[in-house]
Amino acid sequence: MKYTKIILAAAALIAGAGIINAEQPKVVSHRGYWTAPGSAQNSIRALVKADSIGSYGSELDVWITYDSVLVVDHDGWINHLNVQGTHSSVYTKQQLKNGETVPTFEAYLQAAVPLKTKLVIELKPHDDNRLELAAVKKIVAMVDKYGLNDRVDYITFSKNGFKNLIKYAPAGTSVQYLTGDYTPEQIKFMKGTGVDYHINVFRNNPDWIKRCHDLGLTVNIWTVDKPEDLQWCIDQGADFITTNYPEVLQELLKKDAAAKTTKAKGKKAKK
Ligand code: MG
Repeated sequence: MKYTKIILAAAALIAGAGIINAEQPKVVSHRGYWTAPGSAQNSIRALVKADSIGSYGSELDVWITYDSVLVVDHDGWINHLNVQGTHSSVYTKQQLKNGETVPTFEAYLQAAVPLKTKLVIELKPHDDNRLELAAVKKIVAMVDKYGLNDRVDYITFSKNGFKNLIKYAPAGTSVQYLTGDYTPEQIKFMKGTGVDYHINVFRNNPDWIKRCHDLGLTVNIWTVDKPEDLQWCIDQGADFITTNYPEVLQELLKKDAAAKTTKAKGKKAKK
């Protein structure tokens, strides 16, 4: 009993001191590292490029076509075709800016298997809730089929999608909500594991990052590209930063770590 009390007191001290979030933010490449030469948003090349620079995660957007095939695409439209009303055999023939065609989710996962980067999978909000639920079930099943359960985080703007991902993903899987209209306490209540909100949500709610961390929720911030904004996210103690310029963020993180080491050495020398 005595030892239990000591352990609990130590855990409270660690959490209170913010040690729980002492690590630097992790880099998530938004739609893969598509700003690299020869790449394109949501292309397999963008995934491979994100992995090649050691990006912690690579984000991708997933839709389901009306014939129930999962595809990786952001807009849900390409060449005047709506993904939700187009047969997969047509949609996946459309070309991306780097010459690749729209990948199926399955082809994307197959490409990811030998890589190390995590997949931050965004379920897009579909017009039809039944189609969206079918997408959730298929995504979760396919991730499991390729043995990638430990390498995925799920994110979504869809309220239904959020609830369904929490329900159908294996216990312990990271599921983060994107829209920014739920408080940290609401996310916790719904059994989400974290928030992935636009930087302005945190600027408008300055205590939300701390409130998330106090609740054991992770904080991802999107989509941050300006160096001064990236630095703000680092200084605020974000767990993940989603950016179109992952190498810029990596450089900032290196400088930030070096500055902190120099400061710590200076303090030690003064003692
Ligand atoms: Mg996305």
